[in-house]
Amino acid sequence: MPFEKLGLRAELLKALAHKGYARPTPIQAHAIPAILDGKDVLGGAQTGTGKTAAFALPILQQLSESRAQVKGPRALILAPTRELAAQVCDSFQTYGKRLNLRSHVVFGGVGINPQIKGLSQGIDVLIATPGRLLDLAGRRAVDFRNLQCLVLDEADRMLDMGFIHDIRKILKLLPAKRQNLLFSATYSSEIKRLSEDILEQPEMIEVARRNTAAETVSQSAYQVQKNQKRNLLSQLAQEGNWEQALVFTRTKHGANRLATQLASDGIDSAAIHGNKSQAARERALAAFKKRSVRILVATDIAARGLDIQDLPFVVNYELPNVPEDYVHRIGRTGRAGKDGQAISLVSQEENKLLLGIEKLLGRKIKFVGDDKTVNAKPEPKNTRSGSKPKNRSASKRSSNRRYGIRNGSENGEERNSKLRNWNPGESDRQPRSRRRKRKPASSSKQKEAVPSPKSPNRFRKFFSKRVAPSSR
Ligand code: AMP
Repeated sequence: MPFEKLGLRAELLKALAHKGYARPTPIQAHAIPAILDGKDVLGGAQTGTGKTAAFALPILQQLSESRAQVKGPRALILAPTRELAAQVCDSFQTYGKRLNLRSHVVFGGVGINPQIKGLSQGIDVLIATPGRLLDLAGRRAVDFRNLQCLVLDEADRMLDMGFIHDIRKILKLLPAKRQNLLFSATYSSEIKRLSEDILEQPEMIEVARRNTAAETVSQSAYQVQKNQKRNLLSQLAQEGNWEQALVFTRTKHGANRLATQLASDGIDSAAIHGNKSQAARERALAAFKKRSVRILVATDIAARGLDIQDLPFVVNYELPNVPEDYVHRIGRTGRAGKDGQAISLVSQEENKLLLGIEKLLGRKIKFVGDDKTVNAKPEPKNTRSGSKPKNRSASKRSSNRRYGIRNGSENGEERNSKLRNWNPGESDRQPRSRRRKRKPASSSKQKEAVPSPKSPNRFRKFFSKRVAPSSR
């Protein structure tokens, strides 16, 4: 179906043609008519599906059909991160550039006064992160009297990041009569509650099955010792002539360290995470988008929302603690129908995390390279991770120390580990037949494999032993 059939006005169609969009994505095909009809929408879609245009286009169209009475925004989009907010604002400005409408973005981490000034000049669409919006509202810098439409973008992520109280405070400031659109990649009980509170007889639109990775992303993994990951990554990038890669680490410190190490290997790299100033984050992202930086090392703050055109590789340098983050991370590649590769560097300590990810995906991730060990130390019998811990929490603490994980969250970047599904009513649990049975670790399977001296794989030296799947 062409965009023309959706009832969009000529100025928007021109903007879409200019962007080179030939036809609507599924979320656009379903959401645009519903939103133009004035309906509330509950959209099950993650970034990469074209969901921003799915709400931006009809909102722009509706706003262009009338004029503002007061200076306050007529549409408010709440987004979890600064990066996503900035990106959504770019989309509104790009799609709406032939309409006489103003879109403005506000988020924390930068001076508030220019934002107050921007708001005072009158705007039609306001894109905001919740905390900064409340600050601005507290200073009476935003007038919500005119508000017609509220969008909660990546609502699940906002809840994960602890924004629920801010969202509820914001809701109290808004006119009761308005159109509400809620987009979420997953459907948890919290999202259900929020949507029941906010939405009125919503049109339910789900486009991608929950927790699925795009078909266009090919996924593979290397089993590698922790201390060999950096060398392997360097070598993969250099010998594979990687144009660009987004590399995920679990900690901010780890991201900084890896970016510095890669730079010392001669690979232009930058780091992006919650401790960097907004200006530094924007600089690093802009350099990556301009392709002057080859590897961008990021914590999970970059896992959602970031839209990097034609990104060929995503690397999980460390697997995420929350399996769903894996899906969000690898969703940065293989976007808009393009091919992408997601590569995970998995140390033995992370095999359990990998199992969780595979369970969520409902499929195995293929290990590539030589799975014979050269570096792995033999594992002591009867334990899976070396010396037997005195108690479980001591073991967890020590493994956290090994990984450099601190307790608490990293600006909301580490989140709870609840699995969520999208389909209301659909259970998280897999059918019994698909559940993996844990076999007792057989000592023969845990014996170290014999290194293959003739392995053709040039990364062989980095690999550690792959533990048999049953004991992973
Ligand atoms: P989003 O899910 O909104 O983050 O969009 C993901 C990517 O898809 C962005 O790079 C958009 O520019 C692109 N995109 C959105 N709609 C379309 C479309 N109809 N055809 C091709 N690309 C699109």
